[in-house]
Amino acid sequence: MDLKSLIRDIPDFPKPGILFRDITTLLRDPEGLRYAIDLLVQKVKDAGLNPEYVMGIESRGFIVGAPLAYQLGAGFVAVRKSGKLPAAVHSIEYALEYGTDCLEIHQDALHPLSRVLIVDDLIATGGTASATARLVQKIGCKLEGFGFIIELQDLQGRKHLPDVPIITLVEY
Ligand code: AMP
Repeated sequence: MDLKSLIRDIPDFPKPGILFRDITTLLRDPEGLRYAIDLLVQKVKDAGLNPEYVMGIESRGFIVGAPLAYQLGAGFVAVRKSGKLPAAVHSIEYALEYGTDCLEIHQDALHPLSRVLIVDDLIATGGTASATARLVQKIGCKLEGFGFIIELQDLQGRKHLPDVPIITLVEY
């Protein structure tokens, strides 16, 4: 299946100069959604990864991460923007392709030595994913790898990630 044909390009969103890769058109396609998740599951298994927890980054990482966790028999841990989680959190600042922000997870969501896979819809500069990796490493977890539907290769985001498998489905 040609996943690119189901991903919509929106120029100048959310600000001029950004070509937004919109996966809502992929998600609403029944066959596309199933194919994308199944392919991600297969690639995670082919890479020999066996995470106990899939960490999904707000918000599109939730949509990708929850079905992936379900299929892998793993738990799902939400990585949220600041102020959203109700219990005590670990926080980390990070830089986006557009702007800066802060990510949080519940302090009791992961235990040291947990095997985790970090998931988002897209890797651009890698700032979001690398901040999440720092959060994981701060807790002492074993980072098994990363999973993304889309990689924007020109931005070389993977250079900022630790040396673990990086699984992607579509490259631009
Ligand atoms: P980065 O931290 O630069 O790797 O940015 C990754 C995060 O920003 C992901 O959560 C993406 O959903 C979002 N993002 C960044 N650039 C784009 C883009 N061109 N199209 C769609 N989403 C983007």
